[in-house]
Amino acid sequence: MGTSAELPNATAPALPGTGTGASGDGAGASGDGTAGGTAGGAREPAMPGAPTSLSPSRAADFMRCPLLYRFRVIDRLPEKPSAAAARGTVVHAVLERLFDEPAERRSVPRARSLVVGEWERLLARRPELAELFARPGDAPAEGPESGPGGEPTGEVSGPELARWLADAEALVERWFTLEDPSRLEPAERELFVETRLASGLRLRGIIDRVDVAPTGEVRVVDYKTGKAPRPEYAAEALFQMKFYALVLWRLRGRMPRRLQLVYLGSGDVLTHDPDEADLAAVERKLLALWRAITEATESGDWRPRRGPLCGWCDFQAHCPEYGGTPPPYPLVIQPRLPLDDAPGSDG
Ligand code: SF4
Repeated sequence: MGTSAELPNATAPALPGTGTGASGDGAGASGDGTAGGTAGGAREPAMPGAPTSLSPSRAADFMRCPLLYRFRVIDRLPEKPSAAAARGTVVHAVLERLFDEPAERRSVPRARSLVVGEWERLLARRPELAELFARPGDAPAEGPESGPGGEPTGEVSGPELARWLADAEALVERWFTLEDPSRLEPAERELFVETRLASGLRLRGIIDRVDVAPTGEVRVVDYKTGKAPRPEYAAEALFQMKFYALVLWRLRGRMPRRLQLVYLGSGDVLTHDPDEADLAAVERKLLALWRAITEATESGDWRPRRGPLCGWCDFQAHCPEYGGTPPPYPLVIQPRLPLDDAPGSDG
């Protein structure tokens, strides 16, 4: 499998001849399990509102808990703004934007100086994030990720925000200990990719950065603002990267040479050099996943799966595992033929 998981404190190895970096992010780059009128796998359910494609994050949702996938993709239930997610978006934007500067200006001070501007840009797009940073006089905040429970004041300031911005700047600065942006010229940043497999399954996502060496070898890079996983969870972390590698391989006919996860929270770099067997296995896994999603979509049978991340799930009030009730299923449940009556069966 050619895995070269370099933990901890590995420095980002440059591809031979690469003096390059590549592209941006998306606080979790990924496409979405968008809803529409088809389903994939090998068949086309043609059900309005059914998922039509798979992204790494939604695939991970389904593996974690099918009911969570349903709430996000089919019901599209709202989720509370998260300070951690917002910080990830800002940090990714800074890392992406820094490559607009000439190489000699890609310094720590310059990168740190971009943080406030990117936060203001994000706030303009998503004014609801103001509630993450209540000022004195607002309802008391329970913590940076819980929101104050009060109405936004319109002006966002105060010690909570100052701490949050300082954390974002520290993450940006740590990046310079892992990679040297003055030596990188990304081929692509924030690259939206989408492909349809032979089976009909549509895969999509957003890749933070793509580096291309003079030899043509491709490195796919993703930034994480959290900490690197323990070695036993590295395969799970690499799933997203293999997903991107599969999509690029199918789109461009050439497999990425290296996949690289840059963990700004802990200062680690995790790399993996994929091979054909590796990506074929990921494709089989995605097809199986899509079959399960299609069956659940048609039957309306979305099972909750309790796990250690339930504590961070915004949907506990709707989850039977926590005494809640899901909202009425918004799709038409497809009748199932008894096996004896199924097309192609005898009799
Ligand atoms: S609380 Fe846990 S089991 Fe319930 S929907 Fe969320 S992730 Fe699934």
